[in-house]
Amino acid sequence: MRARNHHRRHRPLLLAASRVAVGVALLSAAAAAPAAASPLGPGTELWITLGADAFDLLAGQADHQGLERLEEQDGVVLTQVRFGDLAGLSASLHESTGRCAGFLAHRTLAQARAALAVPRTRSSLAGGVSYSINQTEWVTSLEADLDKPSILATIDHLSTAYHNRYHAYSSGAEAAEWIRDLWRSYAETRPEVTVELVSHPGINQPSVVLTIPGSTFPDQHVVLGGHLDSVSPGTSNPNFLAPGADDNASGIAVLGEIARVVLAADFRPQRTVQIMGYAAEEIGLVGSQDIADGYEAAGRDVVAVLQFDMTDYFGSVEDMAFLSDYTNADLTAFLGQLVDTYQPVLAWTTSACGYGCSDHAAWHRAGYPASMSAEARFGQHNPAIHSTSDTLATLGHNVDHAFKFARLGLSFLIEIGNPERFLFRDGFETGSTEAWSQSVP
Ligand SMILES: [Zn+2]
Repeated sequence: MRARNHHRRHRPLLLAASRVAVGVALLSAAAAAPAAASPLGPGTELWITLGADAFDLLAGQADHQGLERLEEQDGVVLTQVRFGDLAGLSASLHESTGRCAGFLAHRTLAQARAALAVPRTRSSLAGGVSYSINQTEWVTSLEADLDKPSILATIDHLSTAYHNRYHAYSSGAEAAEWIRDLWRSYAETRPEVTVELVSHPGINQPSVVLTIPGSTFPDQHVVLGGHLDSVSPGTSNPNFLAPGADDNASGIAVLGEIARVVLAADFRPQRTVQIMGYAAEEIGLVGSQDIADGYEAAGRDVVAVLQFDMTDYFGSVEDMAFLSDYTNADLTAFLGQLVDTYQPVLAWTTSACGYGCSDHAAWHRAGYPASMSAEARFGQHNPAIHSTSDTLATLGHNVDHAFKFARLGLSFLIEIGNPERFLFRDGFETGSTEAWSQSVP
């Protein structure tokens, strides 16, 4: 089961996306960049950063011989491509390295250089935040509400109701709207909670952001996220099949289930909690970069970011692997503590994935503490991703593995969302918690 699935199809770089990218305006955020509003077509030049290992693999392939090593720093290469190249580049990178996406797309050279300058691992915490476990009663109580059929139903819908969730096609936008509506249904009794689409200039697919305002520290943000798009070979056809059940309907389903449980219990975190489904991860972390760069530009305080990208394939001896590169070491260590505390029967490990592996890298690059919990060690993850076989059937119609990540995410939300201890049943420090004594046995 661990053998990598190598798709053998090499496609000319400009073929795939050229039909769909006309009129596209902006990739990675930086709304401040002067070029931000200029329209992009498939031939418009932009820049990407990717691991030197991946660059060397690509440069050795006939399809990518034109790639130039423009700059390199700390094992990361900056090169120039055209917008129309991104889909083919993403496919080749996945084939060569197994990464998803494996690169960051940048609208301007200045943005690309800024990305290049970010150190490989950054362990400082924004605002000197430290993490601690002190909400055991709440975690234990609410995790009993997590529901496997609910997770299964979301994966089923997202992987079967659309041909694909690709950023360029209407099905990709419809999937985002469906996620928004589902999450809104969870928030019906919570008028202070918002669920909004966040559009990204030039990209058809929006991200989805659910916000629970913090009761005590509203300016401090805790983010849980995962990408909502899907990809497989054949992106030039709007009806190409990319079910993306594990990658990453399973992450979106975990996020939604956490939201459902927290909102149903009338849980009111001290910090502002945001749950995000990112657009267009597969073509260079476009949605997450847009959001993270916007937060950085606005000077927003984000105390922790947790990424879910593929949660339902049990491919390693250990139950979970936390990525050890391009993540925050202190936050990752805390995630291990959460597992040891709340799911002590599980085994976890750390694993290096390389450059730009998922949306956590966008937050990391923007200077925020971010970590990523993976379904397996890198290279032992689901071999069916980025193919038409990434279905619920391949996962055995079973979400037992994803459920572990739902429990992890719930404990993350409750513990980091509440830096000050809440007493379980009485003696609440803020009025907003009074309702809890009614809803929790
Ligand atoms: Zn993914």
